[in-house]
Amino acid sequence: MKPHTRIYTHVDCYDHQPGEGHPESPQRLAVVLEALKTPEFAALDWQEAPLGTRAQTELIHDADYYDAVSEAVPLRGTVPLDGGDTMLSPGSWQAVMRCIGAACAGIDDVMLGEAANVFCATRPCGHHAEPDRAMGFCIFNQAAIAAAHASRSYQLERVAVIDFDVHHGNGTQAAFAPLPGLFYASCHQSPLYPGTGLRSETGSRNNILNVPLPPGCNSAMFRDRVRLDMLPALRAWAPQLLVISAGFDAHRDDPLAGLQLVDADFHWITQELMAIAADTAQGRIVSILEGGYSVGGLAGGAAAHVRALMG
Ligand SMILES: [Zn+2]
Repeated sequence: MKPHTRIYTHVDCYDHQPGEGHPESPQRLAVVLEALKTPEFAALDWQEAPLGTRAQTELIHDADYYDAVSEAVPLRGTVPLDGGDTMLSPGSWQAVMRCIGAACAGIDDVMLGEAANVFCATRPCGHHAEPDRAMGFCIFNQAAIAAAHASRSYQLERVAVIDFDVHHGNGTQAAFAPLPGLFYASCHQSPLYPGTGLRSETGSRNNILNVPLPPGCNSAMFRDRVRLDMLPALRAWAPQLLVISAGFDAHRDDPLAGLQLVDADFHWITQELMAIAADTAQGRIVSILEGGYSVGGLAGGAAAHVRALMG
């Protein structure tokens, strides 16, 4: 049977409801799923995301933080975890556990040859969540957890997270910086929230690579920076598995940032990452939805990304 692209999602991911007018809305997931349900994507292998576990979460997060989040989930309304940015609603716990379960199941699938690659259509996003705190709409860091799960459960010596969300993934960087077997590379707008991701932040053993992009950065400049800075470093590091933090807020339509990418750029970078994964990682890629706050940019970018994953 032809190797296929598997999609994990779950209706529980609609039930994280940060509140009226919050940009990280349930509608984000709806537009991604709608885009992936068109006939072009009929070959996708749809699966329900399982629930993640405490043990998986604690691969990255402190036990105290796990307990604090689980105890803070309200019975009604919302409670803030990080100023007003990151909210918990009654359904948030199930949603974040589906995010973690999907990401770890995706790792198992590509390691065991059950899927060629995997896209996790889940929310909320995760890459700002640090080991001991929520930040920037993110509660737990499913991409970092997935990479740690791959490293721990399959004894992989080199696992990489590549992050093309327009924001720097401070949470993934914080978790990985002391761990030489995990590599994190991010291209992101700078200056922009959360303010980290300078070139000088390189981790314990050059296992962190930051490629800041100026506001207004267009397709040509983006591709140049990725081609010249990010891809050679990733290839040299020779990951045995690739996790993608796939945010689509670098799209020119996005209201929260100022880059000028178009759908084709997300297709392009996905293909470039697949070429490296084919050479060093037997093609193993688990991609996880991060940000993206314009309906059109999110749907178009995610469709372009998955189109590339399907080959
Ligand atoms: Zn973002």
